[in-house]
Amino acid sequence: GYQTRQNAIAAVTNYKPTNKPLNFAETSPAEIFGSNVFSDKVMKSMLPKDVYKSLLKTKKTGERMDPAIAGPVAAAMKEWALSKGATHYTHVFYPLTGLTAEKHDGFLTPDGEGGAVAEFDPKLLIQGEPDASSFPSGGLRATFEARGYTAWDVTNPAYIIENPNGTFLCIPTAFVSWKGHALDKKTPLLRANQVINKVGRRFLALFGTDNGDMVVSNAGPEQEYFLVDRNFYFARPDLMVCGRTLFGAKPSKGQELDDHYFGSIPRRVLSFMLEVERELYKLGVPVKTRHNEVAPGQFEIAPIYEQSNLATDHNQMLMTTLKSVAKRYGMACLLHEKPFAGINGSGKHLNYSLSTPTQGSLYNPGETPHENMQFLTITAATIRAVEKYGKLLRAVVASASNDHRLGANEAPPAIMSIFLGEQLTDIFEQIEKGSLKGCKTKDCLTVGVDTLPPLPMDAGDRNRTSPFAFTGNRFEFRAVGSNQSIAGAQVALNTILAESLDFVCDEIEKITKGDVSKLGAACQKVIQAIMKKHGHIVFNGDGYSEEWQKEAKRRGLPNMKTAADCLPVIGDKDVVDMFVKYGVLSAEELHSRVEIYHEQYNQSIKTEALLVGKIARTIILPAAIRYQGELASTAASMKAAGIEPTTSILQDVTDKLRLLQANTEALEKLMEKKNFKSVEEEAAYKTKKILPAMLAVRHVADALEGVVADDLWPLPSYQEMLFIK
Ligand code: ADP
Ligand code: MG
Repeated sequence: GYQTRQNAIAAVTNYKPTNKPLNFAETSPAEIFGSNVFSDKVMKSMLPKDVYKSLLKTKKTGERMDPAIAGPVAAAMKEWALSKGATHYTHVFYPLTGLTAEKHDGFLTPDGEGGAVAEFDPKLLIQGEPDASSFPSGGLRATFEARGYTAWDVTNPAYIIENPNGTFLCIPTAFVSWKGHALDKKTPLLRANQVINKVGRRFLALFGTDNGDMVVSNAGPEQEYFLVDRNFYFARPDLMVCGRTLFGAKPSKGQELDDHYFGSIPRRVLSFMLEVERELYKLGVPVKTRHNEVAPGQFEIAPIYEQSNLATDHNQMLMTTLKSVAKRYGMACLLHEKPFAGINGSGKHLNYSLSTPTQGSLYNPGETPHENMQFLTITAATIRAVEKYGKLLRAVVASASNDHRLGANEAPPAIMSIFLGEQLTDIFEQIEKGSLKGCKTKDCLTVGVDTLPPLPMDAGDRNRTSPFAFTGNRFEFRAVGSNQSIAGAQVALNTILAESLDFVCDEIEKITKGDVSKLGAACQKVIQAIMKKHGHIVFNGDGYSEEWQKEAKRRGLPNMKTAADCLPVIGDKDVVDMFVKYGVLSAEELHSRVEIYHEQYNQSIKTEALLVGKIARTIILPAAIRYQGELASTAASMKAAGIEPTTSILQDVTDKLRLLQANTEALEKLMEKKNFKSVEEEAAYKTKKILPAMLAVRHVADALEGVVADDLWPLPSYQEMLFIK
C-alpha cells in the first residue's frame, strides 16, 4: 500500500499537461465540432446530388434505402477516411452486454500483382459479418448459424476515431441474426422510434397539429463517473476486474461536508475533462456541462439533448472516450454504479421528451388553451404508461451493479413514481375531482377556456429523489445506471407511451366521434378517468423516506429491490403482448433477453464472489497474519525483557483473522452449489445467499483494515483513492 500511495501522490504533484489545452482562439468551435464526422455537410460536398438526396430522404423519413447508393457512398467514405489518416474501418455495434463492439478490417487490399491498393467494397459498407458467436444471444442463434450480421445504420453518421494508437473509420450498425432477430440494443430502438412516430402523429392529428413532421424522442443523458489514480486502480484487483471495490473501510471523511460538490475542479481532472471534450467535439458529440458531483472523486458530464438514436450512440462514444482519455492522464474512469460502498453511486439521468421540429417538446406547457389541452393529455398518457408499466421500467434498468444504487437508501428508490410538481399535481387532482377552480398561486398563465384550468408558467421545481420527474419541458428518468446503455430505457418508454397514446386516442374518438368541438370535454373526461385509475403513481414527497416505503405499499406500488426480483418482468405476458403488438420486440427476442440478462447477473455475482474469496485469502489474510506475527514477537520479546505485554491488540487481530477465515470458507461452500434448474433460480440464490456471504467476508476484512498497521495494509484505502486526485 505504501509504495502505491507514494506513486499516486507523485503522479498528482508532478502532473504537467502534456499537450496544449484546446482554446477557441486557435481552433474555432466551427472548425473542431464534427471535424471527424462524415456529416451531411461532407456528404453533400462529396456525393452526386441524387445520391445525397436519396440518402437524406432515408435519414429523415426512415424510408428504405436504395441499395444503388451504396457504391458512391462507400467510395466517398473511403476517400474521406483515408484523407483523415484512417487505415482501417470497423462496423460498430451494440451487443446486449451494453458495451460497444468493433471489428476492424483494413482498407489495404492486395492487387494480385504483388502490390496493394486501398479498397472499400460497398457490400461491406451495407453488411458486415463479425465473428460474433461469443456475444450473448439467449438461444436466438443456433450454433450452426452462430454468425449474426451487422447492418449499416444509415440514420447515424460514420465517424473517424483518431488517437495515438491509430486512426480508423467507424460505421454505426445494427446487429441481427440471419433470421432477422435483434441481437443488439440498437435494432429495437430503431423500431421503437418508428412506433412512437406513427402513434405520436395519430395523437397530433387528433389535435389538428400534425403537419407531416416526424415525432421523435429525444435524450439528454447526464453521465456520472469516478476518477481514481491508475496506481490505485492497478493495486486493486476488485476495481480492475469488477469495476467496484469489494473491500474497503469507510474513510474518516466521506462526503458529509459536501465541499466537493460544485467546488473547483482539480488541475489534472480539468485537463482530462478538456481533452475528453476536445475528442467529443471532433466526433460531433455536443457535450455542454461538466462539474464535480456529490461524492469526492465523482464528476458529471452532460451533452445537449439529441434525437434518441444519435444520443444513444453518442453516449456510448462518450463512455468509451472517458475511459480511454483517463488512461492517458494517469487515471482510471469508473463507470460502475457503486464503486465505493457508503459513498454516493453514479447514475445516468435520462432527460426524455417527444418533439416535432415545429412544435418543439410536446411536454412543453403551451401558451394557448389548445396547446395546453394537448400538453395535459400527453402528460396524462405518460402518467398512465408509467403506472401501468412501472415494473417494466424498473426491469429495464436492473443489473447486478445498479442494485447497489436503486433502493439502497440512495437516489432514486426502487419504487417507480412520478414527480409532477405541486402546481401540475394540483391541476390533475382538480381534473380528477371534476371541479376546476384554477391553480392556487398567482404566477399562473391565465387561459380563457372553461374546460381547462390555467397552467403554471414554470412547473419545474426540483425534487432529486424521484425516479421519474417532470422538469418543465421533459421528464427525467433517473434510475438508469451509469454503466448502462440508454437504449433499453428509451425502447421501453417509447413503446409504453405509444400504447398509452393509442389508448387515449381511442377513448377520445369514442366520445368526439369526429366532432372537434367536443375535443376539450373529451380530453377532460379521459384525463379524469386516467387519474382515477393511475393517479396514485404521482408522488412529490421525499422518495428516500421510510414513510414513502409504507405509503407506496398502501398505494399498491411495486417495490422491487433487486434485479432478481424484476428481470422476469421482461417476459410477463402483458409486457410481451405490448412489445409484440407494436412490433418492437418479438416474444422470442424478449425471452432471449430475460435469459441473457439473468446470465449476466449471475456471471457478475459469480466473478465478484470468487474474487472476494481470492482477495481475502491471498491479500488480506497474509497481511493480517504478518501483523499478528509482529505483535506476537513483540509480546515475546517484551516478556523476555521482563515487561508484561499488552496482548489485547494481538487478541483482537487473532479473533478477526479466525472470523475472516470462517466467513471465507462459508462463502466458498455456498459457491459450490451447481445444477440450478433455471437462470431465475440461480439469480435468486445469488441474491439471497451469495451476496450476504460476500458482505460477511467484507465486514471482517474492513474491521481488520481498522486495526492492522497502515504500512502493512496491502490495498489502497478509500481515503487515498477518493482524495488523491
Ligand atoms: P440538471 O442537472 O439541472 O438536470 P443539466 O443541464 O445538467 O440539468 O442536464 C439537463 C439535460 O436535459 C441536458 O442534456 C439537456 O440538453 C437535456 N434537455 C433539455 N431539454 C430537453 C428536452 N426537451 N428533451 C430532452 N432533454 C432535454
Ligand atoms: Mg438532471
